[in-house]
Amino acid sequence: MKLCRFDNSRLGLVSADGDAVADITTIIADLPVVAWPRSPVDPLLAQLPQLHAAIEALGRSASWIPIERVALRSPITSPSKLIAAPVNYRAHIDEANADKGINFGKTIKSIEEYGLFLKASSSIVGPADGVHLPPLDRRVDHEVELVAIIGKEGYRIPRERALEHVGAYAIGLDMTVRGPEDRSWRKSFETFAVIGPWLVTADEIPDPGKLDMRLTVNGEVRQSANTGALIFDVPRLVEYASATYRLYPGDVIMTGTPEGVGPVAGGDVLECYIERIGTMRVPIHGA
Ligand code: MN
Repeated sequence: MKLCRFDNSRLGLVSADGDAVADITTIIADLPVVAWPRSPVDPLLAQLPQLHAAIEALGRSASWIPIERVALRSPITSPSKLIAAPVNYRAHIDEANADKGINFGKTIKSIEEYGLFLKASSSIVGPADGVHLPPLDRRVDHEVELVAIIGKEGYRIPRERALEHVGAYAIGLDMTVRGPEDRSWRKSFETFAVIGPWLVTADEIPDPGKLDMRLTVNGEVRQSANTGALIFDVPRLVEYASATYRLYPGDVIMTGTPEGVGPVAGGDVLECYIERIGTMRVPIHGA
């Protein structure tokens, strides 16, 4: 099942081919409402398994809108955490070490030595919103990544149970200012976490470790890889992240980018594809 958020926070069921959307916003009325204090749990992600049948039933009687007529927002809006994996593909470590514009004179090691990092949740946008470059004279790179979205709360989750805690997948863009500063600053600019084009429930992706992925800039292929090359695969990332953080439904894990990262400029259009999820088109807006 594919679910999107579109236009002015409508909830959509996306057709299997990704060509059409049905407005199923009425299902939101079934979610629990907590006025205060705000919960760290995304109520839609927490309830997804229970809502699955009702959503599919709504889809059968809904009228379908061509997908290009709606503005796709991020399906996740304010997770308690936006967790991200640094240097999680061998070939990306190699390219980072070969490019001073990425490494700034430091030797780039691997995820075992860096641990994970957090991006500001406020940087999340959807593909229709696009990336807005900050007014800095600095290189800003694209990083396409498989995104795992937590569906079930957990802490210290063992690897064997890790995938039970993933509720959905999406495509992510971890936009990055290159420079010597801390990752949490360079990767948290407004609009620097694009998530979309929809979420795909985990039952449709039993093995997140063999998905082709690709990113093009203005039609030219820049990144092309398979998640089979991840150093820490999705189960290991869930295990590793949950050894530190309690994971809540709606929490996002950006799994790391493969090789081929490079700078973007205002006016560019990125197309990000991941097998079994779909394609999202993301405009880059200049400063
Ligand atoms: Mn990244």
